[in-house]
Amino acid sequence: MPRKKTISCIFCGRTVDQGAQLVPSPAGDAAVCIDCVEAIHGMIEGNEADARATGRPMDGNIADVPKPKEIKDFLDRYVIGQDEAKRYLAVAVYNHYKRLLQPETDDDVDIEKSNIILVGPTGTGKTLLAKTIARLLDVPFTIVDATVLTQAGYVGEDIESLLTRLLQAADYDVDKAQRGIVFIDEIDKIGRKGDNPSITRDVSGEGVQQGLLKLLEGSVVLVPPQGGRKHPEQKMIAVDTKNILFICGGAFEGIEQKVAHRLNSRVVGYATDNKVRRIRPEDFIKYVAPQDLKSYGLIPEIIGRLPVITHLEALDRDALLRVLTEPRNAITRQYEKLFAMDGVALTFAPDCLEYIVDKAVEFKLGARGLRSIVETIMVDAMFEVPSKGEKEYTVTREYARERVEAAHLEAASV
Ligand code: ADP
Repeated sequence: MPRKKTISCIFCGRTVDQGAQLVPSPAGDAAVCIDCVEAIHGMIEGNEADARATGRPMDGNIADVPKPKEIKDFLDRYVIGQDEAKRYLAVAVYNHYKRLLQPETDDDVDIEKSNIILVGPTGTGKTLLAKTIARLLDVPFTIVDATVLTQAGYVGEDIESLLTRLLQAADYDVDKAQRGIVFIDEIDKIGRKGDNPSITRDVSGEGVQQGLLKLLEGSVVLVPPQGGRKHPEQKMIAVDTKNILFICGGAFEGIEQKVAHRLNSRVVGYATDNKVRRIRPEDFIKYVAPQDLKSYGLIPEIIGRLPVITHLEALDRDALLRVLTEPRNAITRQYEKLFAMDGVALTFAPDCLEYIVDKAVEFKLGARGLRSIVETIMVDAMFEVPSKGEKEYTVTREYARERVEAAHLEAASV
């Protein structure tokens, strides 16, 4: 009599004897174990969550819109820390969708736009957060530096040029552009007065703000399709900014002192309330409020049009170390990929990573400095390794130190 064939899981190969609980196929000639079924189920759910959280079209119904928690989970994959900013952004974006989807009713309740302002030192992830949000939503996105914008008639770019860039990002699809996201960086540098010594800036600061205000409030703007200066022969494109989400970012240097001052002045007369007094200096930023922005010369109307205010924290050593290795497109992962294309397995020794972080801290370059330091370390290796035919390459602390010292990177520090 022929021996009965032992059925095993077609995925992992385990048999009943090896502890697998098998589910046979209807024909009885194959089986899959419960563990593999669960794993496959998990994968499908994971992919669905990914699909739900990416490339969401802007129309449809609210059930299809990524929930704030999903948005934050997505941001977590690319941006280290900054939990509060992520939560605020997630809610603001979710509400933005709700606003776009609000039915036309006669109940007089009109959900207003929730433009956002991110306050935090340079190199802490403000731009990265805005970019990641745009990637999640699959909407046109553009970054503009507020300091290049000037009031019409002055040297620089007209304010409308930021919409030109958005149009370009949307391949001139006006409907798409009208639902895009604009990130305005260095918003703290367009104050109408203050420390800025540039006379042109002083003259135009308020003009720029008035121009921006028009965009933030939502209005139909005539945009030169090619940017630059408006000239009479150019055909303009009308863009309605009502549904464009504006995210502004600024370092607002020294804002902690303003917050501290405001909080302390409030506790006068509340001697028993020493809660506020116990705030650690580095935590003042957590209490940033719209009124703290006024002393940077932002007109109250602009502040009023940026109702969501949140902060980003300076990245400490631990956070910098995570920035190096953890995000989906972390710097070290990018180099590993570059080397893998030559068939070389690249490893950064843990103490080498520590060294890179130490240098970034020492040069006061924050996360921005990590890339240039790694680039300096890796350039020779990238030159030589492809011709060497080695299969593995480890970057040691000693090698990193040699490269950094040879490059005199110190000169680049600020
Ligand atoms: P900011 O706009 O706050 O000045 P960026 O977002 O442009 O800073 O950050 C500069 C670079 O530093 C980014 O390209 C990113 O690689 C890295 N970076 C900064 N902050 C973070 C963070 N929180 N998580 C991951 N990477 C970060």
